[in-house]
Formats: sequence, structure tokens, C-alpha cells
Amino acid sequence: MTWYQEIPKVELHIHLEGAIPDSALFELVQKYGGDRSVPDVNSLKERFKYTSFSHFIEAWSWKNQFLKEYEDFTFIAEKTACDLACQNIKYAELFFSPSLFLKYGLNCQELTQSVRKGLSRVKEIEITLIADLVRDYGEESELITLSELKEVKDLGVIGIGIGGSEHEFPPELFKRLFREAHRMGFHTNAHAGEQVRKASGVHCLISR
Ligand SMILES: [Zn+2]
Repeated sequence: MTWYQEIPKVELHIHLEGAIPDSALFELVQKYGGDRSVPDVNSLKERFKYTSFSHFIEAWSWKNQFLKEYEDFTFIAEKTACDLACQNIKYAELFFSPSLFLKYGLNCQELTQSVRKGLSRVKEIEITLIADLVRDYGEESELITLSELKEVKDLGVIGIGIGGSEHEFPPELFKRLFREAHRMGFHTNAHAGEQVRKASGVHCLISR
């Protein structure tokens, strides 16, 4: 183990659906019938070597088709928490994106419960949650998601963020969402600058 692995750490920006260990994601791909483009774990790793931001988005979206049931979220939450704990990370603020999976018939509250169930199985690390709402779905839709999140706030949901197509959906369109989130006692955060810089992106803390 290197000195860096040994020292206790915090992880302040990580996405649950983007941090699934390769072997766990491969299991999910198999669960849903497999995918010819990824016959083994090595080819899955190759699938996630990006050449551009749009390539990253394509891979991100492709992977989401293998997250359809509540148990999938419990599974990835536990595996991801184990992975973080193994790196001697003691505390993490973990984004998750409930809005993206409502199309599979999941609801936000049960999805959050499923995530917490998986996280709770790993005692070595404390993990709080930030729900990353989706600009592209519009403020009205995400206000509904926010009201659902309020009911599961005690599951360690400390904040909300917005991500997605920032050029088409600038932050001005989400003033009410942010006001409501503050009123409910959530911290707020926004992904910004990702589509103008070639590197991995800039994340801006808007308030609190
Ligand atoms: Zn992020």
C-alpha cells in the first residue's frame, strides 16, 4: 500500500452512477442480458476511455441502461462504498441522479432508500448524498423531484445540484428550484463550465 492509500481522506466530489467498480458494472450488464461491445471486464474498462466530453456523455448514458431496479442501486451503492473505504476514504459526499431513472418506473424516494441501504452496509465510511437534478428536464419537473427528496432528507441527503445541458438550460431558469431547496434546508451546488473546457470540467459552488 502506498502512503497515499494509507492516509485517511475525504472525497468531496464523486458520482455514484459514475463510480461503479468495473466488476460490479459488468455484473449488471450480464444481469440485463449482456452487451456484445463488452464481452469481458477489460473491454468494459476500454469502453470508459474517453476522447471528448460528448464521448463521456455517450458512455455515461449507455451505462445507465443497466440501472433499472431498486436492488441495482443498493448493489452499486454498497460496491462503491466498499471501493472508497478500501482507499481509506473516511467521508464522502456522493452525487446521485434520481431523475434519470424515473423513466424505468422507479420513484425518487424508494431509489434514495435503496442507495442508503447499500451505503449502510459499509460501516468504515460515512457517506452523505447530493441529488444531482437535471437541467434538461426543466424546473417544474425538478421541483417535483425536490419535494420528494424533502421526504427522505433524513437519509443523509444534504444537498441538491443541477447538471446537464448548461448552454440550453442556464442557471437563471432554476432560481425557484434553488430558493425552494434553501427553504427546505438543502445545500446547493451546480455543475458548470463542463462543456466549454476540454478538460474534465469546472464545478462551481453557488451558495452555502
Ligand atoms: Zn460532478
